[in-house]
Amino acid sequence: MALMTPEEFEVSLKRVKPRVFMNGKKVESVLDNRNTRTVVESNKASYAWAMDPRYERIMTCHSPLIDERVNRYTHVSRSIEDLVAKAQAGTFTAEHLGTCIYRCVGYDAFHSLAGTTWQMDQELGTEYHARFNEYLKMVQRKDLSVAGALTEPRGSRQKKALDWPDPYLSLKIVDRSKDGIVVRGAKINISGAFASHELVVLPQSSHSQEESDYSVAFAVPSDTEGITYICQYSPYSAERDQAENIYELGNPLFGQRETSMVVFDNVFVPWERVFHCGEHKYSGLLVTRFARTHRMTCGGTCKVGFMNQIVGACKLVQEYKGLQKVQHINEQLTEMVVLRETGRACGLAAAQMGKEEPPGSGVFLPDELMGNVAKLNICNAFWRTMALAGDIGGGLVVTMPSLKELKNPETRAYVEEFYSFGSDEPTENILKVHKLLQNWTAGQHGVGTWHGAGPVMAQKIMIQRVCDFAYEKELVKETLNLRDKQACESEKDDEKSKAKKIPVT
Ligand SMILES: Cc1cc2nc3c(=O)[nH]c(=O)nc-3n(C[C@H](O)[C@H](O)[C@H](O)COP(=O)(O)OP(=O)(O)OC[C@H]3O[C@@H](n4cnc5c(N)ncnc54)[C@H](O)[C@@H]3O)c2cc1C
Repeated sequence: MALMTPEEFEVSLKRVKPRVFMNGKKVESVLDNRNTRTVVESNKASYAWAMDPRYERIMTCHSPLIDERVNRYTHVSRSIEDLVAKAQAGTFTAEHLGTCIYRCVGYDAFHSLAGTTWQMDQELGTEYHARFNEYLKMVQRKDLSVAGALTEPRGSRQKKALDWPDPYLSLKIVDRSKDGIVVRGAKINISGAFASHELVVLPQSSHSQEESDYSVAFAVPSDTEGITYICQYSPYSAERDQAENIYELGNPLFGQRETSMVVFDNVFVPWERVFHCGEHKYSGLLVTRFARTHRMTCGGTCKVGFMNQIVGACKLVQEYKGLQKVQHINEQLTEMVVLRETGRACGLAAAQMGKEEPPGSGVFLPDELMGNVAKLNICNAFWRTMALAGDIGGGLVVTMPSLKELKNPETRAYVEEFYSFGSDEPTENILKVHKLLQNWTAGQHGVGTWHGAGPVMAQKIMIQRVCDFAYEKELVKETLNLRDKQACESEKDDEKSKAKKIPVT
């Protein structure tokens, strides 16, 4: 069975030596640094669940590529059932982690690469699909964690890439040789890449033959020479750095959400790991196929899991405060449930309405329209859920003291007394639940939900492309028996000739 145990995963990461910086300092070990450790824990959980008989249906599946059971996060969907299971896995992992499963972007990039490399081979006679399959077999056999990157950062949006003073503001091929290619550029927001074994990279800025040096997709080990990770550092990171005990934090084990910038400074990629190189017409397909897959994931699966954490915390706070019978609180909880289930419905619909794309490839992608609708819907639904949670949680969500006060002999008694709501619940629990709500409502997930899988305008543009409204117009024509001009004219002529034949008496 091609599955690593969580312990083997941790040992395997010790062998990976990425160049990582955080808060102005080098991170010597992503396993030991308190903030990068949260990503290790999240990915590690995906290995534990795959081994657990209770979750193996969600977290594993049979791979026809290697004819073995593999972690679902290394699999390319081959059917509607696979897509539905993919959606369910997205919710399952998110609700148990309370943050990202950092293997999801790579998983979605595999879907885009599998179909598009197949199409390139069919239409151009290239060998990308065979290469990609060999790569994926290796990933599955070794059960690797793979991060995914659609390359930015991008220059002025008013100019074409070729007119940027710095040509590397999108990842670019700088050299081609008989052994491979060399790339230079960066990716600004990448989830958890420093604690993954591999990075899969997709293009971003190639729209014409002249821009074909930006048409590039490949995979590299995450510690390849020339790659540097510059990590995010937020007040939550600082809080974790200073914590005496992780259980005083809002999400003790798995953290807020960790991303980093990834710099590719003249990184060599051997040909066997290059899946797209210069065929600019296919760059857009790689992007849109990734986007529709990832928008189902971000819009209709993981946020549903996150909302379960928020709803659970709100329900506990309601009980601590003795608000169980208060109508508006119950209505707010109901509204949250409706928002959550609408998100879930969009994700499942995107999966159920998915199809083989491109036809003949054997690769199944979520429905384009529903994938985009899922993401667009959740942006507002998630902010609304956070607002409702803020109302139920009260000001304490943002004004609460540190849990350290419960260990401070000078303040402990006051905190125990005045934050207990007069309930039997230990004050420690009450503060912890509020801290969790602080993480959600005043944390990084709001903006993350907005921009992860692309800003809302990107979804609106895709929806406008998909909808030509021809079907809807036909429906109205049919209902009203609307006819074209010619039919109307000939009817008028008929009426006129009938009128002429009627004798005048
Ligand atoms: C927490 C987090 C994790 C992420 N993880 C990953 C990951 O692992 N892998 C990955 O590939 N991506 C990831 N992303 C997504 C990605 O990196 C970008 O954040 C996303 O595509 C949005 O781009 P941006 O942040 O540069 O925003 P911008 O593109 O700068 O958008 C800002 C605003 O400008 C507008 N805008 C931008 N360009 C134009 C234009 N040409 N015309 C008109 N309006 C424009 C946008 O609509 C938006 O309103 C992640 C994002 C976040 C927030």
